[in-house]
Order: sequence, then structure tokens, then C-alpha cells
Amino acid sequence: MSVSGLCQICESRPAQEQCSNCGTLACEVHFKETVDLCADCASQAQPGPGNDDVEINRF
Ligand SMILES: [Zn+2]
Ligand SMILES: [Zn+2]
Repeated sequence: MSVSGLCQICESRPAQEQCSNCGTLACEVHFKETVDLCADCASQAQPGPGNDDVEINRF
């Protein structure tokens, strides 16, 4: 998916993708393709460092 506009996180790079959780437009730096989330949501979905094997889709 490709979007137009600026990254809503850094507001300095063109947005590449839209977060599937909050809808924020994010540039390549601030969009985590592996989880399809913006950096904000990705960090909330993966609390705690050193946890490589998080299952974020578990409810
Ligand atoms: Zn950005
Ligand atoms: Zn988000």
C-alpha cells in the first residue's frame, strides 16, 4: 500500500505506509512492516526490551 502525505510521527519524511491500528501515516523509519504498525503502536505492542518472540496478535 502506498499513501501520500508526510509521516505523522517525524513530519519530515514522506509517508510510506499507514498504521493498521491507529491509521497514522508513517515513513519507512517509523513504520514497522513486520507488524504492519507505526512505531508508536509497535512499541506499545511489544512492551519490554529483549523480547524477540512476542505474539502481538494474541488477545
Ligand atoms: Zn517518520
Ligand atoms: Zn499506529
